[in-house]
Amino acid sequence: MNIVWLKRDIRTIDHEPLFWAENQKEDYIIIYILEPKLISHTDTSIRHLHFIYNSILDVNNELKKFNRQVNIFFASGENVFNYLTTKYQVSNVFSYKESGVNLSWQRDKKVLKTLNKNRVKWKQFDNQGVLRGIKDRVGWDKNWFSYINSSVVKNKFSKTSFKIEKSMYDFTIEKIPELKIYPKEFQPAGQEFAIKYLNSFINERGKNYGKNISYPEKSRISCGRLSTYLSWGNLSLRYVYQLVKKSGTYKFHKRSFDTFLARLKWRSHFIQKFEVDCSYEFNCINSGYEKMIYENNDEYLDKWKKGETGFPIVDASMRCLINNGWLNFRMRAMLVSFLCHHLHQDWRRGVYHMAKLFLDYEPGIHYTQFQMQAGVTGINSIRIYNPIKQSIEKDPDATFIKKWIPELKEVPKELIHKPWELSQIDLIDKNEVKKYAKPVVDVKLNNNKTKNQLWQLRRNIFVKRESSKILRIHVRPK
Ligand SMILES: Cc1cc2nc3c(=O)[nH]c(=O)nc-3n(C[C@H](O)[C@H](O)[C@H](O)COP(=O)(O)OP(=O)(O)OC[C@H]3O[C@@H](n4cnc5c(N)ncnc54)[C@H](O)[C@@H]3O)c2cc1C
Repeated sequence: MNIVWLKRDIRTIDHEPLFWAENQKEDYIIIYILEPKLISHTDTSIRHLHFIYNSILDVNNELKKFNRQVNIFFASGENVFNYLTTKYQVSNVFSYKESGVNLSWQRDKKVLKTLNKNRVKWKQFDNQGVLRGIKDRVGWDKNWFSYINSSVVKNKFSKTSFKIEKSMYDFTIEKIPELKIYPKEFQPAGQEFAIKYLNSFINERGKNYGKNISYPEKSRISCGRLSTYLSWGNLSLRYVYQLVKKSGTYKFHKRSFDTFLARLKWRSHFIQKFEVDCSYEFNCINSGYEKMIYENNDEYLDKWKKGETGFPIVDASMRCLINNGWLNFRMRAMLVSFLCHHLHQDWRRGVYHMAKLFLDYEPGIHYTQFQMQAGVTGINSIRIYNPIKQSIEKDPDATFIKKWIPELKEVPKELIHKPWELSQIDLIDKNEVKKYAKPVVDVKLNNNKTKNQLWQLRRNIFVKRESSKILRIHVRPK
């Protein structure tokens, strides 16, 4: 038999490994491996597992009529492949290449060894226009456009009567009983919902994409909201790209949809950086910034994590994330800026907290974007967000703040952005407001320790040299 190994590609449409498996003479099984070591890594949370598990159930529903299903294992990849390839006569394993964290990269190396030892071929397909083993970006754009415009694979499935036996590595829901109930706050998982979200974006929601993208409340409707489906692979990138471009609404709202399509390329661009160097999970992209000295105050960090900093837009953003796992780009960036620039924390102290909260956690985007917002890449402009300005501009009616900070519900919108300015008279009969946190740092936000260091280091010769190197590898070779 052959094996199709699903990773971050839990779908049945536009799936190359499944297509190849269907076209071989041997029958095949489909597997997903929940690996204890990987799922207990500090970047992973139960919400990710909820999404993965329910996406698999959705695939199983789709494949039921062909008597096929995804066999879920609960063991290390190495053990699972060792077991399968010794018990069965396996010819090939088909999967996509995974641009994951160091741990999954090390796992892949061990799996490769096991497969080589048992003389099984492992064919890995390029994923979303991301290339393996490149030294720079020469020809990268051309390759991306050729991927994104290439034909979507038309997957068809044959019926089978072939099943593998039960094994000691099988996953049963009793191993993670929390997975029995999918929390209603999260976007629903699986390909079927992914397509519904995509269609509603194309037909209706996307018209105001560009206009609303930075507003935390409006963006919940008019952004694509496809990141979670793309991150776990319920949708392929080119399927999304082509459906948007071919749609009747595209030409009427070209500007908005083009802004969206550009971001699909950014997606691959960021993942490509991480594919080249997954040590960005731990190290500054520009190693010159390892010299930064932060205060790293534990109390501040704790308040940031809980959404209790006393800055309403910051706390509303964090509480929203805790509740449902999605936030628009601007508010994600502001949370990182607040952490690193105003609370003087090393980016590594917050990066896993947000990874765990994002339902759409994608290592390739997450670590590179986090560092970019922290200002430690040396190649991007340093953006220090003022949360009060963001609050007034991006949540003028305070709908977002009031939704997530019940303590401030009674405060008129004109006063809500700076609750510390409320007078005794404003506070009469408003006992809830008094319960809201006091600002964790001076509201003038004029402590420039981080800002000064960032700018000083930018002029440092070593940082400059590193920056040139990064540009050469990840942007343009000359
Ligand atoms: C600190 C930080 C961490 C982030 N971590 C993640 C993450 O773990 N996973 C993730 O998918 N996105 C991440 N992003 C990028 C971005 O915020 C989300 O992709 C976007 O908000 C998802 O919503 P959407 O699907 O409605 O996006 P849309 O605005 O509809 O965009 C369409 C798609 O383009 C891609 N995209 C959009 N913006 C970016 C961007 N700035 N960089 C790269 N790709 C982009 C996403 O795949 C997204 O689904 C992060 C941003 C920041 C600032």
